[in-house]
Amino acid sequence: MKAQLDHIGIAVKDLAAALAFYRDALGLEIEPPEEVADQHVRAHFIPVGEPKLELLEATSSDSAIARYIDKRGPGIHHITLRVDDIDAVLARLKDRGVRLVDEAARPGAEGALVAFVHPSAAHGVLVELKQGIVSPALFHTATRHQLGDLELVTLSDGFFRLDGGAMFGVVPRTLWEKRQPPDHFNRITLGLRPLVVRGERTMLIDAGCGDKLDEKNTAIYGLDRSFHLDHALAAAGLSASDIDIVLASHLHFDHAGGFTARRADGSVVPRFPNARYLVHRAEWHDATHPHERNRASYLPENFMPLAAAGVLDLVDDGAEVMPGVTLRRSGGHTQHHQVVMIQSRGHTAVFTADMYPTSVHIPDAWIMGYDLYPMDTLAFKRSFAREAIEHDYLIFFEHDPLMAAGRLREINGKRTVSRVI
Ligand SMILES: [Zn+2]
Ligand SMILES: [Zn+2]
Repeated sequence: MKAQLDHIGIAVKDLAAALAFYRDALGLEIEPPEEVADQHVRAHFIPVGEPKLELLEATSSDSAIARYIDKRGPGIHHITLRVDDIDAVLARLKDRGVRLVDEAARPGAEGALVAFVHPSAAHGVLVELKQGIVSPALFHTATRHQLGDLELVTLSDGFFRLDGGAMFGVVPRTLWEKRQPPDHFNRITLGLRPLVVRGERTMLIDAGCGDKLDEKNTAIYGLDRSFHLDHALAAAGLSASDIDIVLASHLHFDHAGGFTARRADGSVVPRFPNARYLVHRAEWHDATHPHERNRASYLPENFMPLAAAGVLDLVDDGAEVMPGVTLRRSGGHTQHHQVVMIQSRGHTAVFTADMYPTSVHIPDAWIMGYDLYPMDTLAFKRSFAREAIEHDYLIFFEHDPLMAAGRLREINGKRTVSRVI
């Protein structure tokens, strides 16, 4: 493995006093500070040759930096090694039984991926691993994958946040927080990744949250659409009018929100002017007859205008919606939740929607609290995982903030996901 020293982090109790030393006495230049809101930390980088020094200032008393200073006083807090492939390094460390703080890489500042190694494994030093350049699919672009004769393009409609407890159901926070660290509202960051399938026609599967959420809900869900579906389509060389078919995995707002758009006069219309919209017949029935438990997820403005405009086609279990693209009922999350099987020339990709919302949800029992029929989810996951491993499926994770698609592997009875995109 090759690694480069990226920076040394120094926990600082009194920033003014630290600046008096590093900036005024030593005469070093300090970069404008960067706020790491999730960690309640403000970072002040100091270029000193290729690696940097990083002064870490706690912005809240429950920040890890504040706790570190309380316990050990100010001083060197961590060193950061830059590596080319953080997933490979973590796998290698795990293989050797090295104790990790983060078992999976997570988003750091400047679009980097980071993970901490436990100081007890690194001889008393907290070691941060950092991969500076992440797969562009994760941040602000579209990435293509050729599957036989079909072209798959993974897109982004931005990021949003949901309660970490709700995302992992009965799994205790002590287990999931290492994989998906929550913010101070206990929310974890999730991606919104619709998929384009280009074959005989151009199909879009799901369409993200769209732009109709009001201010209050945008804040509740921490919706960040600074880069959204229109940007991603443009990055893929497409526009809304190129989409022939829009397919729904189900009609929750984080999947169907982008199906419609609000015009200046307040009316809501289909967002893709040349598309037929395909929705499972029974899912349509459930979405249009909501109850107390699912009402907040089914927002009529996302789908009723499709029926009004006459662009809606209801389809049934197992429908082949385009050559090579077939609906398959998983149930569980909603009674008629669909995964999408995409097949060409002996290769199979699966858009798993809310069945495997992220790659962290691979263990059979890691099931969202949102699921209406969790035992159905469990039964489907059990058989699907065996099938995916046996046939080497390419699996798309619609809500994973870091991995658009990967392949399921089982080594010595332990399941892992190897990233493809
Ligand atoms: Zn859903
Ligand atoms: Zn969802």
